[in-house]
Amino acid sequence: MEVGPEGIPGVAMTSKLDAILGWGRKYSLFLYPFVTACCGMEYMSVACAHYDIDRFGAGLPRFSPRQSDLLFVVGTVSHKIAPVLHRVWEQMAEPKWVVAFGACASAGGPYHNYATVQGIDTIIPVDIYIPGCPPRPETVLDGIIKLQQKIQTRKIELKDV
Ligand code: SF4
Repeated sequence: MEVGPEGIPGVAMTSKLDAILGWGRKYSLFLYPFVTACCGMEYMSVACAHYDIDRFGAGLPRFSPRQSDLLFVVGTVSHKIAPVLHRVWEQMAEPKWVVAFGACASAGGPYHNYATVQGIDTIIPVDIYIPGCPPRPETVLDGIIKLQQKIQTRKIELKDV
């Protein structure tokens, strides 16, 4: 519990604490790559030395949702796999973020049919959409930087601490 200048619990330290925690969080992203289709090749490219997402503190993927705070949904999501995606998201602890990587994850891509989810935001909340089919690695890095800006400015809620 923070204490203000007059001993009033609450407000005074909040913005500084938010800034420090936001800075720490944005450079310690543990991403869970939920890779289903061809966009996965670009994800691998981003993770390798030429583009090196380690510079942004996101270099260590976790394959357990309980150890992840960033869900990277990479590729086409079918209605059959949609419950699995929702379950993975549910198992991640707060605070957590979601990136829709590519046209398929963002809006169904070229697959306007009965089998394909027309955007993962119909299943789970999405923080950043990365356009492209597939996205260029530079576009992915741009998405990560935008996510970091969002994380930095996110207000701390009691459930997060
Ligand atoms: S957006 Fe394009 S490259 Fe990515 S999974 Fe869909 S069809 Fe494949």
